[in-house]
Amino acid sequence: MGKYTRPKGTQDLLPATQRYWEYLRATVRREALQYGFERIDLPLFEETALFTRGVGEATDIVEKEMYSFEDKGGRKITLRPEFTAGVVRAYIENGMRVQPKPVKLYSVGPIFRYERPQAGRYRQFHQFNAEVLGVQEPLADLEVMLLAWDIYAALDFQGLAFQLNSTGCPQCRPAYIQTLTAYYHQHAAEICDTCRRRLTTNPLRVLDCKETRCQPVIAGAPKIAEQLCTECETHFTALRGYLDELEKPYTLNHRLVRGLDYYTKTVFEVWAEGIGAQAAVCGGGRYDGLIELLGGPPTPAVGFAAGLERIIMVMQHQETPVPELPTPPVFIAHLGAAASRVAVQLLVDLRAAGIGAQIAMSGSLRSQLRTADRKGGRFALIIGEREMEHGEVTVKDMAQGWSQTSIPLEAVVAWVQARLKRVSE
Ligand code: ATP
Ligand code: MG
Repeated sequence: MGKYTRPKGTQDLLPATQRYWEYLRATVRREALQYGFERIDLPLFEETALFTRGVGEATDIVEKEMYSFEDKGGRKITLRPEFTAGVVRAYIENGMRVQPKPVKLYSVGPIFRYERPQAGRYRQFHQFNAEVLGVQEPLADLEVMLLAWDIYAALDFQGLAFQLNSTGCPQCRPAYIQTLTAYYHQHAAEICDTCRRRLTTNPLRVLDCKETRCQPVIAGAPKIAEQLCTECETHFTALRGYLDELEKPYTLNHRLVRGLDYYTKTVFEVWAEGIGAQAAVCGGGRYDGLIELLGGPPTPAVGFAAGLERIIMVMQHQETPVPELPTPPVFIAHLGAAASRVAVQLLVDLRAAGIGAQIAMSGSLRSQLRTADRKGGRFALIIGEREMEHGEVTVKDMAQGWSQTSIPLEAVVAWVQARLKRVSE
C-alpha cells in the first residue's frame, strides 16, 4: 500500500465496475426522458443555511451528517447531503415558476453524508433524484412513484412493492400530533431516550424508531392516515385508486413519516428483494411547504431519491446482465522508427473516419500482439519492416480466428470500415 489511502467512507470506482455505472445511468436517463423529466445539474456545495432550513434542524442529516466548512471568504458551505433543497433553490432563483406546470426535473450525482461507513453506506455516494413541481394533484405523486418503479423494473429488481402513507398537512397534522403525543406520554416508561427527546423536537419521527423497546409502542400508536382532513383524505384516496387501477402493489405503512412541517401528504418507499429480505430501495414524498419556506411562492411539489451504490450492489449480487463497454475495434502494432510514423498516420486516419483505434506504445511485435489480443479489439494491424517495404499492412481479423491478409496501406481505412459496417448492419 502506498502512503495515501482514500478517505474513510469513500470509494474508487475502478474501470472494472464502470459498465455497471454506465448501464445504471443510461437506464435512469432513458426512463426519466421517456417520462418527460428534464435533467438539472447543480453545485456540489451550497450555503449551509439552505440545508439547515431545507432539510430541517431536527433531522439526522442536519444534526450529524453534514460536511460543513467555512471557505476562504468566510462563507458557511456544505457539501450537498441531498438534492431537493438545491433543486428548490434553483427553481426559485432561476424563475422556473413561469414555466408550464408541471416542472419535472431529475438529477444524478454525488451526495455527501458523514455517516459510519458499512456495506452500502458511504460518506460520498450517488443519488438519482426526481421532482415534480407546481402540481398538487395526486397525478404528480403517481408520476414520481411510477418512475421509481419503472427504473427498478428495468433493472430487473424482484419483489417490487410500494410502502405508502400520508402524513397529512398543517391543517390536520397538529391534531394528530396531539393524539400521538398523548399516547406516547401514557407509554413514557417504555420508550427510548431518543424518542422521549423527539416528542418535543420532531414527534412524528418516533414512529420510525428502530429501538426494540419502542416497537410495541409504535405498533399500538394511533395512525395518521386515519385522521386526515378532507383534502388530504381525498388526495390519498385518489392516489391509491390509481395504484389499484394499475395493479401496483402497495402496503399502507403508518411508520413511514418525514416529520417536518413542509412535508405533506404522500410518503412512499419502493421495496425490493435486493440482497436478502425485502427492503427499501428508495424513498420520497410530497413537500408542499418547502418552496415557500425557502423564499419562493407557495408551490406544491413531490419527489424521490434513490441511492445508486445500493442498486449496483443488487445488480452485482443478482448478476444482472450488463453489456461490456465498447472497446476500439482496431489495434495497431508496429516495429521500427519509420513504421511508427506510418502507424501514427494510420491511427489518426482511422479515428478521423470514425473508427475507434489504439496504437501499441512499446514492446516487441510479439508482445504488442498479445496486448492487442487482451484489449479485445477485432482487428490487429501490423506494420513491420516487410510491410514497410511493400507499402502494405498485415491485418489479423479476430472475428475470423485471427486470419491474416495483406492490404495496401492506402486501402486499409476503407477495408476496415467496410467490414465494421457489415457487422453493424
Ligand atoms: P438510510 O435509512 O439507509 O440512512 P435515508 O433515509 O437516510 O436512508 P434518504 O435520505 O431517503 O435515505 O436517501 C435516499 C437513498 O439514498 C436511500 O434509499 C439509499 O439508497 C441512499 N443512501 C442514503 N444514505 C446513504 C449512504 N450513506 N451511502 C449510500 N447510499 C445511501
Ligand atoms: Mg440516513
